[in-house]
Amino acid sequence: MTKISKIEIDTTMCIGDGTCEVVAAKTFRLNTEGKSTVIKPWADNDEEIVRAAQSCPVLAIKLFDEEGKQLFP
Ligand code: SF4
Repeated sequence: MTKISKIEIDTTMCIGDGTCEVVAAKTFRLNTEGKSTVIKPWADNDEEIVRAAQSCPVLAIKLFDEEGKQLFP
């Protein structure tokens, strides 16, 4: 996959199950409202970030390349 340049979380879709936080713990953290947030982009490597996005049950994590093209989902 092309290098990830932007991570977006659709908080209206996020159900707060915390899977992304388990898979890529340095990048994603649930906030006090039970929604996932990006706490530190690129703290995990691209593979872990992709795996976190793929593991999200509602596909709320969107990944983009440097040209703004959506890489996932
Ligand atoms: S895996 Fe998806 S639904 Fe679960 S907390 Fe992360 S963004 Fe939200």
